[in-house]
Amino acid sequence: MLKTLGHVLRQMGVKQVVEASRAPEALRLIANRSNEIDLVISDLNMPEMDGIQLLRQLGALGLHVGVILISGEDPRLLAAVHTLGRQYQLRILGTLSKPLDRQRLERMLQSYRREGRRAPRGPATMVFTDELQAAIIGRELEVWYQPKIDVASGQLIGVEALARWQHPDKGFIEPNIFVGICEKYGMVEQLTELILSKSLRQVREWQRDGLNLTLAVNFSAKALCRLDLPETLEATVRASGLSPEKIVVEMTESALPKDTSTTLDIMTRLRLKGFGLSIDDFGTGFSTLEQLKLIPFTELKIDRSFVHLAADNKVSQAILESSISLAKKLEIHCVAEGVERQEDWQLVADLGCDSVQGYLMAKPMPTETFSRWAETFAASAKNGRDDA
Ligand SMILES: [Mg+2]
Repeated sequence: MLKTLGHVLRQMGVKQVVEASRAPEALRLIANRSNEIDLVISDLNMPEMDGIQLLRQLGALGLHVGVILISGEDPRLLAAVHTLGRQYQLRILGTLSKPLDRQRLERMLQSYRREGRRAPRGPATMVFTDELQAAIIGRELEVWYQPKIDVASGQLIGVEALARWQHPDKGFIEPNIFVGICEKYGMVEQLTELILSKSLRQVREWQRDGLNLTLAVNFSAKALCRLDLPETLEATVRASGLSPEKIVVEMTESALPKDTSTTLDIMTRLRLKGFGLSIDDFGTGFSTLEQLKLIPFTELKIDRSFVHLAADNKVSQAILESSISLAKKLEIHCVAEGVERQEDWQLVADLGCDSVQGYLMAKPMPTETFSRWAETFAASAKNGRDDA
């Protein structure tokens, strides 16, 4: 298998292939040439050190290499390994079974080449809380917008507002880093307030220009503990000239507070005031169904991990299908996140999902870029209709 794979990879134009017959040997080779290795292909079942141990070690070395696993194991076990790999900051490109499927391997290599090597998270992204605090107070953090597209009409119907931070010296700071710091050090409410006020003003401006969009904003568990949230939010939204019906409050299910009576009180009153309530990253938490039963959600947002590459993954498909059918039975809106390929769009469309977000349509964009994109998108959607 090792020899065949090496041969096939060279045929596919891979410049250098390094082979190792045992995991510890591979690890030594990788550690010694950490800057040269882009991609690791490994069996899952190996003597001495299995594939999962190897992933852990690669993660510990801080190597952000791409990984392809070879295994005949059951798809759910493989899905668990994928998740684990992502937690170790590795880029799991997929799984190959035996005998080797050349086309599948080729596709994985192509996807790796397309997206390029992920920049290692070096010391440059070390951020201090006081810097972040200053950036929030100075309103330096930007809002980027990711379009939400209606599947049936193909029209742009809304945006999700996402926080972005371009540090003057350190460059672009990963959102999960600074949002994490905000959550840890009690700054998340300030962050939400900033994103909300900037995005409300922007969406109102787009509305004046004739672009009517809903605005989704991510709320943290902290914000959802404040009993006066419905009142303050309504006042802020109305002051901006928009109505609560235009706003979707997104909350990650795993972040939902434990104190259910307070949460329920807040959520129900938000709903009463006309806000949309979206359960974000659906499927990743543990108490999803209970939350769905309790809280009057208006939208279910399926996590990208069940959408991305779903057309090739039976487990993702099953979860996707049941999530969409659940949303339909509850008569709430269903959104699929992470649509990056035509096949996956087709799948979620066939399953009856209402709307989608993802790189296939557009990545999150700064204001100006979004405005231009929306114009072009509207024009091409119109041409598409005229052609039809
Ligand atoms: Mg969200």
